Amino acid sequence: MENIEKVRHSLSHILAQAVLEFFPKTKLGMGPAIENGFYYDFQFPTPLQENDLEKIEKRMKEIILQNEKFEKEEISKIKAKKLFANQPYKLDLISELPGKTVTIYTNGNFTDLCKGPHIKNTKEINPNSFHLTKIAGAYWKGSEKNKMLTRIYGLAFETPEELTAYSKMMEEAEKRDHRVLGEKLDLFHIDEKVGLGLPLWHPRGAMIWRQIEDFWYQEHIKNDYELVRSPHIGNRTLWETSGHWGFYNASMYPPIEIGQALEEKQKGIKAKESEEYLLKPMNCPFHVQIYKTKPRSYRELPMRWAECGTVYRFEKKGELSGLTRVRGFTQDDAHIICRTDQVEDELKKVVDFILFIFKSFGFDIDNIEVFLSLRDPKNKEKYTGTDRGWKFAEDILRKITIEKKLKFTEEKGEAAFYGPKLDFKLKDVLGRKWQCSTLQFDFNLPERFNMTYINNQGAEERPYMIHRALFGSYERFIALLIEHFAGAFPLWLSPIQVAVIPISEKHLGYAQKIIEELKKNNIRIDFKNENETLGKKIRAVEMQKIPYLLVMGDKEVKTESVSVRERGKGDLGVIKIDEFLEKIKKDIKDKK
Ligand SMILES: [Zn+2]
Ligand SMILES: [Zn+2]
Repeated sequence: MENIEKVRHSLSHILAQAVLEFFPKTKLGMGPAIENGFYYDFQFPTPLQENDLEKIEKRMKEIILQNEKFEKEEISKIKAKKLFANQPYKLDLISELPGKTVTIYTNGNFTDLCKGPHIKNTKEINPNSFHLTKIAGAYWKGSEKNKMLTRIYGLAFETPEELTAYSKMMEEAEKRDHRVLGEKLDLFHIDEKVGLGLPLWHPRGAMIWRQIEDFWYQEHIKNDYELVRSPHIGNRTLWETSGHWGFYNASMYPPIEIGQALEEKQKGIKAKESEEYLLKPMNCPFHVQIYKTKPRSYRELPMRWAECGTVYRFEKKGELSGLTRVRGFTQDDAHIICRTDQVEDELKKVVDFILFIFKSFGFDIDNIEVFLSLRDPKNKEKYTGTDRGWKFAEDILRKITIEKKLKFTEEKGEAAFYGPKLDFKLKDVLGRKWQCSTLQFDFNLPERFNMTYINNQGAEERPYMIHRALFGSYERFIALLIEHFAGAFPLWLSPIQVAVIPISEKHLGYAQKIIEELKKNNIRIDFKNENETLGKKIRAVEMQKIPYLLVMGDKEVKTESVSVRERGKGDLGVIKIDEFLEKIKKDIKDKK
């Protein structure tokens, strides 16, 4: 265990220690180290007051300065039960632990049931490098059947500087929160009346989506993909064949009955032909059925079939969040069906495609992290496919990541049951990682659906199937873009690219002429002709983070030009309209 993790976990003990000093009747839950800090769950005798966290934090700092040793002791369960007789959650843990003995750790006047490890002495902690941040409700052991406890969260780092840097980053992240900006910029909202986890896209948000989708389609056509489309629901038998009905139950919704109208059902009439359909959690089985409509020859391969398909996956209500945890989302999906001798080439093309796409959105592709998920060799029975198939696929994925000089980590046991995969994580401006692209082998579906092609010897052979998505999902990717750009999208993605502001009513005619010109060139505009002061209109445009603002008065009318303000750069002066058009058309083309 890394030292900082020991520090974080030890701080959770000190937190519980301080809490008990103030509120001796508190019942203690658990207190692990987590990413960037720690938490501890408590059942308080009375709810915490606003300044309690501050008080507890101050006391923790005092405890740290007392240079208390952490001392380990192994005791019998019988003794432990006596020791924690007033702590029902500790008793619960003791009865669950295997063996006859448990370990306890004592620092100062505080003893906790714990398996460790800890730091040796509280003096190893810099008292200014941690901070209690918030409280939240948390069920004991994460189960809704148990009591809701109060969780106190803390941040902790090796040094106060790291803590400050992280806190600043979080503050910045809060300002960039896509849920906040989504509302401010009028991009989307989640409507309880419609359903949680089902975002509604407003005109400006839908425009961003459209720009991304257009770009995606164009590039897929250039890369020799063909487009397919499939419905949102499919017959239960399809999902039984694919194995989703069985392996994927936890992520799917219960069936819909299709054999009758709602009206008949309401009248209590039994359906004559009851058919069960399922909302699709994936697009693959549909694409397989397209493949299977006729015998395929080795000459037809590879097939690259792409679809932006909306899938539905079960998420608990409490875990839904903005665009990143939703119940319905649109994957930029594609399936590549190919021969053994084509696999390497196809995978390389996908990797190049992924890097090209991210570069086009202005991401630093040298900072992409790749995870190679492999089979757990000790638990082979958890996976479909043959040893030979797995070795081939894992070796080739590794070879390609090395050849493409990608920074990658191998993760044994992280593969899907149907095959190994590469996952790509992008870093945003704040250094946060976002899982986007994925590239996965599938030994399962070709087998289950008996997909074949006729090889050059006239014999039937099984093709390889590769699933891949570049953005992952539109919803997630747009959330990433919103936070990465803090809502100030590059010109080519901006839902509104240019705002037009006439100074007074007598310039309306000229403004109309300019608008016609912009529209002719497919520039997306907002006409600010409401009866407001110029200052107010300019501020509104700036709040909306529109890249360009054109102001026109007497001088501009006379010289057939516009006064240009650029987002983030300010006044660019008076420019001839043709010149302005040329500049922004070039910038849009260059994806600026
Ligand atoms: Zn501990
Ligand atoms: Zn798929």
